Amino acid sequence: MIQKSTLAFKIQAPPLVPIYGSELFFPVRRIWCVGRNFVDHALEMGGQPEKEPPFFFAKPADAVVPLGGVINFPTKTEDLHHEVELAVAIGKPGQNIPAGSAHDHIFGYAVALDMTRRDVQAEAKRKGRPWDLAKGFDESCPVSAINRSIISSDFGTACLSLQVNGVTKQSAQIGDMILSVEECLSELSQWVKLEAGDLLLTGTPAGVGPVKAGDVLSASCDGVGQLDVHYTAARDHR
Ligand code: MN
Repeated sequence: MIQKSTLAFKIQAPPLVPIYGSELFFPVRRIWCVGRNFVDHALEMGGQPEKEPPFFFAKPADAVVPLGGVINFPTKTEDLHHEVELAVAIGKPGQNIPAGSAHDHIFGYAVALDMTRRDVQAEAKRKGRPWDLAKGFDESCPVSAINRSIISSDFGTACLSLQVNGVTKQSAQIGDMILSVEECLSELSQWVKLEAGDLLLTGTPAGVGPVKAGDVLSASCDGVGQLDVHYTAARDHR
């Protein structure tokens, strides 16, 4: 065991996401994301959902912006896109988790944004390069407070939606996901051992589109919560 006093320097603590109705915070360990988990979104991205099952990618934990708020417009993109998603907060480790017992590993739920440099992603796809800088940049994952009051992971007709400057751009039922919450968790746990503190973003519905400096994004998921984000006019004021 390495002693804390032997570290050359301290690194930033993990992002802490507030929990509704609690004084406690959810510490974020890793961010996993599902790609193309709604048929209409897979089609709008030029995919063939009947032939290509959903897949996974990741963002660094410190991409999380707890509770959203004012966010710097990212550098290196002329086509920043919004993707509203249901996020599952993992509270218990597990590997090869059967879908039937996936619920035991869920700590709570949140609404999140998988912000994407779409132009960078398109170039990466074209050149066969990784997506990391298209998906995993600073402040690319605003997350609402974690809601622990949801008993069932069967969301059925619960609506996941996103407005930009008050105009609805994305709206879909959670029940329309190709892989359910339990199936996403079960499938991902066959690739990596899930750990407490992991967040899993379960995919975005159709209607993804551009975000400009100055825009206000308002994301919501019935019964889960709401998240507001305001992009600064300055492209980078750090
Ligand atoms: Mn996404």
